[in-house]
Amino acid sequence: MKQQTFGIIGGGMLGMTLAFRLSQKGYKVTLFDAAPNFGGLASAWNIDGITWDKFYHVILLSDTYTRNLLKDLNLENEMRWVETKTGFYTEGKLYSMSNTFEFLKFPPLNILDKLRLGGTIFYTSKLKNWKRLERITVEKFLKRLSGKNTFEKIWLPLLRAKLGDTYKNTSAAFIWATIQRMYSARKSGLKKEMFGYLPGGYARILDVFSTRLKAENIELKSGFKAKSIYRDDDQVNIEFTDGSNYKFDNIINTIPSSFIPGMVPDLSDEEIQKHSDIEYLGVICPNVILKKAISPYYVTNITDSGVPFTGVIEMTALVDKRDFSDKHLIYLPKYLQSNDPYFEKTDKEISDMFLDYLLKMYPHLHLNDIEHVEIARARNVFALNKLGYSNSLPPVESSVKGLYLLNSAHITNGTLNINETIQLAENKLSAILSGINGAE
Ligand SMILES: Cc1cc2nc3c(=O)[nH]c(=O)nc-3n(C[C@H](O)[C@H](O)[C@H](O)COP(=O)(O)OP(=O)(O)OC[C@H]3O[C@@H](n4cnc5c(N)ncnc54)[C@H](O)[C@@H]3O)c2cc1C
Repeated sequence: MKQQTFGIIGGGMLGMTLAFRLSQKGYKVTLFDAAPNFGGLASAWNIDGITWDKFYHVILLSDTYTRNLLKDLNLENEMRWVETKTGFYTEGKLYSMSNTFEFLKFPPLNILDKLRLGGTIFYTSKLKNWKRLERITVEKFLKRLSGKNTFEKIWLPLLRAKLGDTYKNTSAAFIWATIQRMYSARKSGLKKEMFGYLPGGYARILDVFSTRLKAENIELKSGFKAKSIYRDDDQVNIEFTDGSNYKFDNIINTIPSSFIPGMVPDLSDEEIQKHSDIEYLGVICPNVILKKAISPYYVTNITDSGVPFTGVIEMTALVDKRDFSDKHLIYLPKYLQSNDPYFEKTDKEISDMFLDYLLKMYPHLHLNDIEHVEIARARNVFALNKLGYSNSLPPVESSVKGLYLLNSAHITNGTLNINETIQLAENKLSAILSGINGAE
């Protein structure tokens, strides 16, 4: 029997993993991406002589899917594991929150609030039935467990930082998934927070991964922006913006759902509605190169309102600064809805506003310590986990025969990360293939 052909649209970690696993099973695969390079949100750039991820990434000891992929690429043995610390910026001061003792000293909460906060985290980490949590808002869930004071002083600023005002429609499954990931980071390492990275960052992973995909005879086509998808006779077609057209027995489209209705007009009304209903959050993420360190913390959570960014990620608290020619790299992410007018601000406007606040937060940092700033932006980063989310998702197997629509919105009980992305690719691929082979 003739082997089936697959076209994959979107060469982020999801599309690359699907392509890799399909070719290992003997299928003929072509992978397309609109950008000049593969990698999507995981891709890197060079700023001030340093090549590193545009958006910060860590790997956890518990990220078994990522680590297995790295094993397949012969990279896992080079991983570096580091014990990291977490900071909190609250009421104009920076606090360490890296162990129980520091938590007990944390000033904004009294002892009862702290017990309730600790109890909330512990209780949520033990919950198994995340689907039930999709029926209640995260606000109601956290207020009930932690009390109003802790909710307002800790949870609310953290939810706003990650979700903006959309926290109001977000289900408690969101905080469940976040706490599960936080717990698994600590579980494996004597309750310490162990984070990992590969020297060279995702640039290196993507380079080795792309070379491996080529070696597997996968056709890699970058600079191909898909415009429309339709079926004729017995194959599915992709038409690209440059006018070219490719046909396959099957297509897996991994790009965000917001683009699907305009791209696949032959979907049913219900599918179009379901893709349109998925709301995305995006991120504006200045990368800042500094002459000196600002803190010992990999992540600093911010609970003060008025700070334009929603956290500080100090990459060089994790990555050896010798890998950055002794310079320091920090990220100042701000999460917002994908249609927020903030995305229209110029690089200079964002940079002025963010750096002004950074200098206020860290008085030992001076303007001449800042060597370079580059602003990364992405509008469609993760789908909002609204009430009843998992039941409202569009099916992966679409009503257009041979067309599968699979993207990160299909991660229902996890946070957005590469481990979940690889797991999604592998699990859904098994289902897709058993559907195809069963139907043959
Ligand atoms: C700020 C930030 C921090 C993060 N931190 C971490 C972390 O610490 N650890 C971790 O594991 N993960 C982290 N992640 C998540 C991780 O980056 C994502 O889970 C992963 O990269 C998503 O991969 P994807 O393939 O699903 O999507 P994407 O990477 O978005 O890939 C989609 C691809 O589709 C292409 N495309 C779009 N439209 C078209 C079209 N019309 N035609 C052809 N191609 C098209 C795009 O160019 C892109 O390459 C972070 C992400 C962000 C933004």
